[in-house]
Amino acid sequence: MPQPPIDDEALEKLVRAGDIARRTLEYGRSLIKPGATAREVCEEVEDYIRGQGGSPAFPCNLSVDHVAAHYTPGISDDVKLTPTSVVKLDIGVSVDGYIADTALTVDLSGRHQDLLDASREALEAVIERLRPGISLYEIGKTVESRIRRRGFKVVRNLTGHTIARHMIHAGLSIPNYPDRTVFYKRLQPGTQAAIEPFATNGRGMVVEGGVTNIYAYTGRRPRRGLNEEEKRLLDTIIDRFLTLPFTPRWLVDVMEPSRLEQTVKSLVAKGVLHDYPILVEAGKGLVSQHEHTIVVLKDRVLVTTCKGCQG
Ligand code: MN
Ligand code: MN
Repeated sequence: MPQPPIDDEALEKLVRAGDIARRTLEYGRSLIKPGATAREVCEEVEDYIRGQGGSPAFPCNLSVDHVAAHYTPGISDDVKLTPTSVVKLDIGVSVDGYIADTALTVDLSGRHQDLLDASREALEAVIERLRPGISLYEIGKTVESRIRRRGFKVVRNLTGHTIARHMIHAGLSIPNYPDRTVFYKRLQPGTQAAIEPFATNGRGMVVEGGVTNIYAYTGRRPRRGLNEEEKRLLDTIIDRFLTLPFTPRWLVDVMEPSRLEQTVKSLVAKGVLHDYPILVEAGKGLVSQHEHTIVVLKDRVLVTTCKGCQG
């Protein structure tokens, strides 16, 4: 797919978002300790992003053990880290709608270094091969072979994704295995994307599990059928987040918590918001993840969330 070229102003903002994300991820890593709650880590991380002039492009995800993705603390529910937690910290930064998406895994037990190495080495191997026009098939093949070499499986139904302004998922999934259905698809100049290998000692698949705390506006506003409270909340959501993912924790200034949670749920039921279910490993395996954001230019590939990485 040909993409419009990325102009200097867009590139500058993508680089700035990447720098903020990289610094925030390292800061977040330092907060991941036994006894800490997901809320403490995530609120600090989200504030750190704002303090550097960015805004969170989606709620801080802190997914533990067999939870692979999409956990963020709720207003009332929360997770406490233990001395054996395997913790994925996944963050997004927006600078004027230009997005960086990056993740790492921390093993508090010290017993799963090989699982962490598997997803990290897979990401590094892809970065080494990056060039304008690289095929999605080659990316997937590289990821799977590196993760297998360590004796683990990839999580087949979690993928990287293209990114566009104000859009965390711009339509193309980047597989973590050699997927023949994308054999002819390539990352052309002008494309932004997140590469995110997931490794597991479980079944290699995620299923939906548990209550979600992450939502996004679908972009469809019904002309009627919303009460005053629903309208007021939706206006605030559109004003603050557009169609980017958000969490009720970011709306507690608008209405009191139980009312807020109820109104969010009714907006989901009316098709105005969609929810992101928590994704758990189907065999209750442990999961590790590493992620960087890339920008494909005419003559090279920039890794915006990694200093010194270049494709
Ligand atoms: Mn991510
Ligand atoms: Mn991502």
